[in-house]
Amino acid sequence: MTDSYQAALARSAAIEQRLEDEPASLRMLTGDRPTGALHIGHYFGSIKNRVKLQQSGAEIWQLIADYQVITDRDMLGDIQGSVRSLTIDNIAAGLDPDRATIFTHSAVPALNQLMLPFLSLVSVAELQRNPTVKEEAKSAGITSIGGLLLTYPVHQAADILFCKANVVPVGRDQLPHLEQTRVVARRFNERYGATFPEPDALLSEATLILGLDGTKMSKSKGNVIELRMTADETAKKLRGAKTDSDRLITYDPAARPEVANLLLLISLCEGVAPEQVADEIGDGGGGVLKKRLTEAINTELAPLRARRIELEQDPTYVSDILRSGNERANEVAEVTLGEVRERMGMVYT
Ligand code: ATP
Ligand code: MG
Repeated sequence: MTDSYQAALARSAAIEQRLEDEPASLRMLTGDRPTGALHIGHYFGSIKNRVKLQQSGAEIWQLIADYQVITDRDMLGDIQGSVRSLTIDNIAAGLDPDRATIFTHSAVPALNQLMLPFLSLVSVAELQRNPTVKEEAKSAGITSIGGLLLTYPVHQAADILFCKANVVPVGRDQLPHLEQTRVVARRFNERYGATFPEPDALLSEATLILGLDGTKMSKSKGNVIELRMTADETAKKLRGAKTDSDRLITYDPAARPEVANLLLLISLCEGVAPEQVADEIGDGGGGVLKKRLTEAINTELAPLRARRIELEQDPTYVSDILRSGNERANEVAEVTLGEVRERMGMVYT
């Protein structure tokens, strides 16, 4: 475990404590790229924490990162459909549009303008070192990294800092980006005076859920269990999940990552330790493991799936939510941009 991961875990634990002691001091921002339907990696890696923060009374900002779709691909695809589906996934999972501001960053010009001063605070070498950018380029099969992918973490700093969020519930892949945001906030504050908080990640027990092929579960990779799948589709997909040839099921994340991942998922759904699940399955092999996981996931997601179907019936529901979310995001972004201009001495009237 690297030092920076350990430091992020410690700061995440401190946020958990603040959630208990002073939840109203927390302002959350997190986001998803509208590149496809949300999956169980999102659910366990981030969404459950979003809902937990909301229930504790933290302020909630939920971003749909539409510009960031074109960081690792040329075309936006069915962007309307993806934005709609992502909004519905989040609400079906428990985000309450009356308490959470759900918005698309392309509709918030002042947020995007923050990227200009922020870009001046980072070096190209620093951006080129970001391991998540390299990983995303690799998994998208990109050989020449475009300007928007390279500066993705700086754009993300604008996403987080425009509303002065201090907590970001994310999976492990996002930690380098969040570190970049902390650096941007720190350097801005040093140069122009205290303006931005240095946000912390809130990490879940499942910081990296693996997909059916044993690599990170990602929308873009086709290795996912989508939240919106039916129980039968889930069963079919899980039958194809990668395991290993040892029939005796044991929980050993280092030596048996795929089996450990399936055990962890059962554990998260059932609230039982993964070691205990492994003991119960014993020499039942991959077949019994997958069957138990299918039941666990289908039970866990049944209410979300039912709610999702209901929400899909209403054609104007999502556009109404996004209209008011974008309005509120614009108000707040204008205020922050005004403050930034003032700090930088760029007010001329
Ligand atoms: P894409 O392939 O388009 O990048 P993605 O599946 O990686 O999609 P994002 O929209 O990039 O999803 O990520 C949204 C949030 O979900 C981030 O906080 C990310 O850390 C978290 N997340 C995504 N995949 C996983 C995973 N496999 N395990 C845990 N958390 C995850
Ligand atoms: Mg991603």
